[in-house]
Amino acid sequence: MVIDVAVIGAGAAGLCAVRHLASRPSTFSVTAFEQGEKVGGTWVYTENLRQGPTPTGCPSTPACSKI
Ligand SMILES: Cc1cc2nc3c(=O)[nH]c(=O)nc-3n(C[C@H](O)[C@H](O)[C@H](O)COP(=O)(O)OP(=O)(O)OC[C@H]3O[C@@H](n4cnc5c(N)ncnc54)[C@H](O)[C@@H]3O)c2cc1C
Repeated sequence: MVIDVAVIGAGAAGLCAVRHLASRPSTFSVTAFEQGEKVGGTWVYTENLRQGPTPTGCPSTPACSKI
């Protein structure tokens, strides 16, 4: 029997879950649902910073690819 699995969100956690489940196609059938235009979640780089840098200089949200 193949189990249908829905993964909500394609950030780091969702992508790891998809990778793990997809490696067992005889057991799982996986579908990922991502509300954004790209996969990667927090780690998708964008110039749109809402609050400016943190005290450590890291852009606060939604991505911090300039560390
Ligand atoms: C500035 C910053 C720095 C960070 N630095 C580190 C670090 O150095 N090391 C570390 O381990 N972690 C760090 N983190 C934590 C970071 O959140 C995690 O590393 C990781 O990105 C979390 O992955 P995630 O998949 O749980 O969540 P996210 O990356 O947030 O992914 C969630 C995904 O789910 C999607 N989603 C949400 N709701 C829905 C819905 N209803 N339907 C469809 N899609 C949906 C979102 O669009 C998104 O793509 C940092 C976070 C920030 C903001």
